[in-house]
Amino acid sequence: MASADTAVTPSANGSTNDTHAAREPIAVENPATGEVVAHVPDRSPDEVRDMVVRARAAQPAWEAMGFTGRAQVFLRMQKWILDHSQELMNTIVSETGKTFEDAFGAEVGYAAAAFGFWAKNAEPYLAPEKIKEGSPMIPGRKMEVRFRPLGVIGVIGPWNYPFTNSIGDALPALMAGNSVVLKPSEVTPLTSLLIEKAFQECGLPDDVLIVATGRGETGAALIDEVDMIMFTGSTATGKKVMAKASETLTPVSLELGGKDAMIVLDDANLERASNAAAYFSMFNGGQTCISIERVYVEEGVYDEFVAKVVEKVKALRQGDPSGGPGTVEVGAITFAKQLDIIDSHVRDAVSKGAKALTGGHQGSGKGRFYEPTVLVDVDHSMEAMTEETFGPTLPIMKVKDAEEALRLVNDSPYGLAASVFTGDSKRGEQIARRIEAGAVCVNDALVNYFALALPMGGWKTSGIGQRHGKGGIRKYCRQQSILVNRFPMNKDLYMFPHNKLKAGMFQRVSKVLYGRGKRD
Ligand code: NDP
Repeated sequence: MASADTAVTPSANGSTNDTHAAREPIAVENPATGEVVAHVPDRSPDEVRDMVVRARAAQPAWEAMGFTGRAQVFLRMQKWILDHSQELMNTIVSETGKTFEDAFGAEVGYAAAAFGFWAKNAEPYLAPEKIKEGSPMIPGRKMEVRFRPLGVIGVIGPWNYPFTNSIGDALPALMAGNSVVLKPSEVTPLTSLLIEKAFQECGLPDDVLIVATGRGETGAALIDEVDMIMFTGSTATGKKVMAKASETLTPVSLELGGKDAMIVLDDANLERASNAAAYFSMFNGGQTCISIERVYVEEGVYDEFVAKVVEKVKALRQGDPSGGPGTVEVGAITFAKQLDIIDSHVRDAVSKGAKALTGGHQGSGKGRFYEPTVLVDVDHSMEAMTEETFGPTLPIMKVKDAEEALRLVNDSPYGLAASVFTGDSKRGEQIARRIEAGAVCVNDALVNYFALALPMGGWKTSGIGQRHGKGGIRKYCRQQSILVNRFPMNKDLYMFPHNKLKAGMFQRVSKVLYGRGKRD
């Protein structure tokens, strides 16, 4: 079954084993050590076109296998993930520099759940939907909505979660009966290549999933060729993707950046709130779209909350995670340019009066690190409170009350995720409903991502569309409405010829049907 253009070469010879690639191969670096661990091809637009042609040719037979046939491949993959979890974790850690715990929890664990979830739920989510309609114009008609795969889906992924946010989005597309061409981030392509190979071992027909490694140009070329684009990445690139897709009217689903806020009310369990703040801001080195990026704390509990958070963040160990589980809590910064962004946000805040109670500098060692950092005396004049930092930093701001917190939370172009911590969960829910974000947790953060039946997607500049749940697979389908008149008569009343009697009767019927009922 090995179709693949899968082409990884060890770093030693520095060349690719792919005969098509005429371009300089991409060096993949371990961010925790600075070592180059592999080279992968930089696919040209012509190669991308060729891949999509192959994927298109493979799609009808994959669709014809039906949900049961496709689910069999997925369930084999689920077992593969469990049997090869160490290999998968090693690969993820080697290209991201994240800890084994981060690689297991949010990637390998997610993968094991996601293969089973989509294998089981694709069919009920895409079952034809009966529609009941009481219009007198169409009595007795049978109506239903059906879902058919779009064809070839282009998935473009970021570097922070090479399984979850690249392959993870390909899974519902595949279970819906599409084939997929996936462009992983040039920074972290190895996980996608490993999974492409695993899929082949597990019986996925050739060319149903093709990984197109490459840089931004490779992603841009994909947009021109496919039937839909699922993009995860920054808001800036998301805008470019949408602009390009508009040239061919290609539908897009965009999962973009965020500036996820946490509100701590004065009745909150401060021990839980401070543990959550420390964990979810530093988890994956802060490189999570739905992490905690900024905190607003009611003034009565501000000092105690800050003291608890600082104590917990100071205790974190950071460094090269390759020693295995339990070595460190915070790993490396995966993407070189991100380190500059983190540093510039911290320096901007400090220059405007903020204080770093712990951290505040780049970390030491051969790899790329930024010290776990807690900032106070912050406000919305600082980039650390308004722009996505995407690093192990936590700015904490004192507010008078929940109303001020809400105003500041919503004072953002982003609307991805947020959290509210309070002893009164009913009040927490009321506040959650007033937050302008696609997902809000009360006394929790981020864990909504693991509820695969619960949709998530950004508001405002954080995205368009959603992943997970029914909508997370229906977006990969063409929707077709079918109306059947099972008892056709020679003529329906509204058909020609027109006459006064019929017109008057229609008007009276309209009044009876729609003219009653209480109105203000
Ligand atoms: P980028 O937007 O820089 O890149 C995302 C992907 O797009 C990469 O594969 C990149 O390739 C590719 N790309 C770059 N230019 C183009 C182009 N012109 N056309 C098509 N594709 C292109 O994002 P990052 O990789 O830096 O990821 C971090 C961002 O992702 C953060 O903002 C984060 O919030 C967001 N994110 C959002 C999530 C969500 O669910 N909302 C989840 C995870 C991350 P290359 O890497 O080769 O440049």
